[in-house]
Amino acid sequence: MNQSALRSLPSVERVVTSDVLADVIAAYDRDWVVDLTRNALAETRRSILAGGEPQSPDQIAGSVRQAIDDLVTPSPRPLINATGVVIHTNLGRAPLSKAAMAAADAVARGYSDLEIDLSTGRRGSRQAHLQSLLCQITGAEAALAVNNNASALLLGLSALAAGREVIVARGEAVEIGGGFRIPDVLRQSGCRLVDVGTTNRTYARDYADAVTDDTAAFLKAHASNFRVEGFTAAVDERELVALGKSAGIPVLHDVGSGALLPTEKYGLAHEPTPQEAIAAGIGLVFFSGDKLLGGPQAGIVVGNRDLVSRLERHPLARAVRIDKMSLASLTATLTHYLSGNAESQVPVWQMIAAHPDAVRARAQLWKDALTASVGYETAVVPARSAVGGGSLPGETLPSWALSISPNGSGASPESLLAALRDQPTPVIARIEDDTVRLDPRTVLPEQDAALQQALSAALAP
Ligand SMILES: *Cc1c(COP(=O)(O)O)cnc(C)c1O
Repeated sequence: MNQSALRSLPSVERVVTSDVLADVIAAYDRDWVVDLTRNALAETRRSILAGGEPQSPDQIAGSVRQAIDDLVTPSPRPLINATGVVIHTNLGRAPLSKAAMAAADAVARGYSDLEIDLSTGRRGSRQAHLQSLLCQITGAEAALAVNNNASALLLGLSALAAGREVIVARGEAVEIGGGFRIPDVLRQSGCRLVDVGTTNRTYARDYADAVTDDTAAFLKAHASNFRVEGFTAAVDERELVALGKSAGIPVLHDVGSGALLPTEKYGLAHEPTPQEAIAAGIGLVFFSGDKLLGGPQAGIVVGNRDLVSRLERHPLARAVRIDKMSLASLTATLTHYLSGNAESQVPVWQMIAAHPDAVRARAQLWKDALTASVGYETAVVPARSAVGGGSLPGETLPSWALSISPNGSGASPESLLAALRDQPTPVIARIEDDTVRLDPRTVLPEQDAALQQALSAALAP
């Protein structure tokens, strides 16, 4: 044991008064810095007892400073998504439109008419802000927005089917991602799952045969993150609605991504839309606010007035209610669809609609702006962008990417990815064919300068 190293441990005062901490002491509560210094000294003592090297007062002050920087750096931090995956759950899903951000900002900075009816001065409903917009856009009678789609489903099933049976096609009793499984949500809502058909084929008679006095609903769930190909059959919405009508059973459909524009217009497979589910007579349609709808995190339910009001009255509705900032930005996002300018204003649709030539031109600009990149080979190469976020599985958009091969630099593709993540504005890219690929499609135009800076810094010798 290193007794002299232990004796040489500096005092708290010596560390706190180190120049390294001068501006930190000026900016924050001194007692807090003193506490963190005590912790750092205790850590150093333990490390010396375990055979570690002694540390100078400035080194210990440096670790205190690092701990403070880590705590006070705003988090989550903005970054650049150069993966080409438009809706990336780990990167925060949909970026908001300017109008949606402004709307959230306006209600965040002060008071608002969140739950007051300005014409009467009496208490109003926060749902009123959204209801008519959602009904106009989807053709539904009634609408409700909550915290996210998972909670919307939990609320819907709890309110309509607790203690009873819900019939689901076996191929739709799926896991959506992040441990979210339809059978688990049903169980959590107090319902009994009755799965019918087989993994690949389900017919109307499978549903019909499973109906009992205890059946509360038919549930359809969009298999949003995988594709069953080949010998398959599913019961379409209209057929199930007809069956439900004759048996007096409501049909619920979790369409997942909330695409309000037709994805086939952009060369993608058709993604089920809330509008067509309503037109088919579905009782309640569930979808997310922050996937293809392109708004904030939210879960939206549209459909039959009586069913929606049962959800509104359920005690869980309060537990999963939407907050005012999401509500404001969701309203603003929906307005883009009514005005017909979603493709030019909602970032996820701007990205999906971006022409490959425009993407290629940006990749070329990035390549041309790179100067100090000794040992790296760069090229603009064809690529495929994905929609992601549990929508359009396996579907990609033709795109272009800046490809960087670290061959002659002594670096590896992995170390270059790490260097890009380590920039003041981190850049998330991907590796393909042993090269780092950056797809401009998912990089917001106003991030071009930051991206070029990060690239130059990460490639600097
Ligand atoms: C994404 C998704 C969900 C979960 O939605 P959240 O808004 O993330 O809670 C549920 N169902 C389907 C089909 C989905 O694609």
